[in-house]
Amino acid sequence: MLILIINSGSSSLKYQVRDTNDDSVLTEGLIERIGESEVTDHAQALDQVDQKLTRVLGERALDAVGHRVVHGGERFGEPVLINNEITRAIERLNPLAPLHNPANVLGIRAITKKWPKLPQVAVFDTAFHKTMPEHAWRYAIPDQLYRTYGIRRYGFHGTSHEFVSRHAAKLLGVGASDFNGIVAHLGNGASITAVSGGKSIDTSMGFTPLEGLVMGTRSGDIDPSILIFLAREGYSTDDLDQLLNRDSGLKGMAGNNDMRSTEEAAADGDEQAAIALAVASYRLAKYIGAYHVAVGGAQALVFTAGIGENSWQFRQSVVERLGALGISLDDAANRKKSNEPREISTEESAFPVLVIPTDEEAAIAEATAAVIGEQNNQ
Ligand code: ADP
Repeated sequence: MLILIINSGSSSLKYQVRDTNDDSVLTEGLIERIGESEVTDHAQALDQVDQKLTRVLGERALDAVGHRVVHGGERFGEPVLINNEITRAIERLNPLAPLHNPANVLGIRAITKKWPKLPQVAVFDTAFHKTMPEHAWRYAIPDQLYRTYGIRRYGFHGTSHEFVSRHAAKLLGVGASDFNGIVAHLGNGASITAVSGGKSIDTSMGFTPLEGLVMGTRSGDIDPSILIFLAREGYSTDDLDQLLNRDSGLKGMAGNNDMRSTEEAAADGDEQAAIALAVASYRLAKYIGAYHVAVGGAQALVFTAGIGENSWQFRQSVVERLGALGISLDDAANRKKSNEPREISTEESAFPVLVIPTDEEAAIAEATAAVIGEQNNQ
């Protein structure tokens, strides 16, 4: 099937066309500064996409559109075929993802208007984590806050964690539903998931993508009393949002949100950069220890996304802290550059350490084709 994958942001539209028969990418692009340039809205952005598709695809027609939707709330645990009711349900989740879901809905409505007959599927970033048990998704705060505002842990990066778990199982030669492991998705945003029987049973991001690991610009876990303290010092809610989501993490500690630049700075003797890397790798190692317990003994530790796939230094500094688990890296295998799924641990390692490149667009295309396939069989 020919699938158009859409990642619609408030001022951007990222797209890709894939043929799921041979998993090829036919075209892709990114339209930015929607609303601030000659592209005044998402409908105009889509007109540009349409012109490009006409050039590239010629006579071939799209079979469906797959949308990356950030928040599926408590309702969506699977990709779904979009209709008006589903679009409204996604819109009702806007308060939980104010930066993302409204933009996703804009993308869905623009497509509905332009190509009303084209089936659309929503693939949710939270969906994979819907299997978390209640003891993992509850915060220890009054139940009323959950009932009134939906304050609980949801988890994100689900499409990537699910895709990477499946491919890790394949590399290990076990069925996807027999996979017990720990998946660390380390990009600008970073999260780690405990996978048991192929399902997410815990993950480090929570009510929003701020909880958990040290990220490019996000603090991850901190004592919430810091916010109360700063509010009393005169910080506004917007100041706190800016502080924790955009001015913290590697950037806050060492001045640069980019891992590669931070590693280069540390190698040049920048002590702030070195301590930032140590905080990030130590935090991650603690989560790995915790999730090893959560899954009852991992079959594998898996690294993915920009940092997980490319930074041998960061992988080394994390695994060095995990001696108690009995795992160790093969230095040559860890340093080797590759785009392939691979094992990087020694033969003596208690369980394998893997690098599995993630591909969220491929996962969205597969999920979309599966929903459309089921629909056609009914
Ligand atoms: P996003 O979350 O935006 O999709 P990516 O998954 O592309 O992010 O990851 C971006 C991060 O990966 C950046 O911090 C970047 O520095 C890091 N990265 C990419 N290549 C390397 C490399 N060779 N060495 C170290 N870090 C790298």
